[in-house]
Amino acid sequence: MVKGYENINTWVFDLDRTLYTGPFEWEKRAFNNFFEYVEKHYGISKEDAAAMDAEFSKSSFYLKGWVEELPGFDIKHWWNEIDKVDASDVPVCKLTQKMLKDLPGQKVLFTNGHPSHMDKFLKHLGLEDSFDEKIAIDESDIRQNRFKPNPDIYHEIIQKMKTKPDQCVMFEDNLHNLKTAHQIGMGTVLVNVDDCYKHLDYIHNQKDTFTHWLEDHMK
Ligand SMILES: [Mg+2]
Repeated sequence: MVKGYENINTWVFDLDRTLYTGPFEWEKRAFNNFFEYVEKHYGISKEDAAAMDAEFSKSSFYLKGWVEELPGFDIKHWWNEIDKVDASDVPVCKLTQKMLKDLPGQKVLFTNGHPSHMDKFLKHLGLEDSFDEKIAIDESDIRQNRFKPNPDIYHEIIQKMKTKPDQCVMFEDNLHNLKTAHQIGMGTVLVNVDDCYKHLDYIHNQKDTFTHWLEDHMK
């Protein structure tokens, strides 16, 4: 029994900054590599690249901004760079492993990350066998806008899992992605975000970490 979520049969999880906690040092290393790449190939200084990235992230998925801004932008090159980054300091949580397994219902991993990143991180976290369905995105998905927060993908998942929006809950650190979930009728839980967004109508529940949410509700 999941306290407060008795009618839920499907749980949808983001990966990065949702299924593990900070301080997210690996991201800093990855983005440093990325901004170096942009500087080398496009002549945009690292500082300007960081500012552009922050701007893209305000409105949507950051890679969409880069694809539109830099014609010929090589996503695969960037993803290779991400895969090379040392992420061995990402915290592994045995409690999360156990409680996620015990969480009753269908579990879907839904990331805007690429497949090899998803596989690498789930393996590192010991969560590779914890999901009924795993969705990552490839280059064609990015070019066709098939990623969060596009509601079409959410509806595809709901159909595939043979459920209904009001029987699904999504866990995320990203407000855009939760807003879509709320708009199509899913429940939402915001995690790993310092600021308090409880006043937003599309944030139904908020917790400092996913593990603490599990501890609260799996009693
Ligand atoms: Mg995330």
